Amino acid sequence: MDCLFCKIAAGEIPSTRVYEDDLILAFRDIAPQTPVHILFVPKAHIASADGITPENSAVVAHIFETIPKVAKAEGLTSYRLVSNVGPDACQSVKHLHFHLLGGREMSDRMA
Ligand code: AMP
Repeated sequence: MDCLFCKIAAGEIPSTRVYEDDLILAFRDIAPQTPVHILFVPKAHIASADGITPENSAVVAHIFETIPKVAKAEGLTSYRLVSNVGPDACQSVKHLHFHLLGGREMSDRMA
């Protein structure tokens, strides 16, 4: 499958990894929008949050159990989580990912 984050998860495209296990990967965004900007992805392909089902949702729970540990390791006590779904939300990579954004004060506007 021609999917950028599948290739990153497989190690075919380099990334700056901050966490990895059998199921998930977290790596630094190539164009960070905040001092800390990390992407969390399942290794198995899910196109977006719109593709989360009872059969694959355990990996999403695992991501959300891991995010606070990574945030703490990055020195964050306050942060924002974002997942864009589809064109109106400007999803540019069609592989489910959660942005962890932090390290500075952010706008109270989200859109
Ligand atoms: P989204 O627009 O929500 O789909 O987010 C995709 C994110 O992937 C953007 O923030 C990009 O900067 C990021 N990105 C694109 N290519 C790479 C890459 N090779 N390594 C790390 N992050 C990337």
